[in-house]
Amino acid sequence: MNLTERYNFELLANEAEKLVLNELGEQLEAFSEGDICLCNECVVDMAAMALNTVKPFYRFSLLGTLYASQAMSEKNYADSLKAAVSNAIEKVRKNPSHD
Ligand SMILES: [Zn+2]
Repeated sequence: MNLTERYNFELLANEAEKLVLNELGEQLEAFSEGDICLCNECVVDMAAMALNTVKPFYRFSLLGTLYASQAMSEKNYADSLKAAVSNAIEKVRKNPSHD
């Protein structure tokens, strides 16, 4: 059976994506221009890299952002998310996604 024809998966969301983007935005503010390439390719690459290391956090989205703040209030999750983001920034900074 084809699930996507029968059910609406648009309400399924990976909260980690939103959390990683928030965190990435905050951490990038600490860099000044010239220290780091902030082109689209590099920044999206940082987000992808961080998202591949952080534990996914799926929810059924009718209840809004309740779950996201719940995840961030778990200290371990918040810490591992912050670490994943700063590692991704460092990797791309040292080795940009382009010449
Ligand atoms: Zn770049």
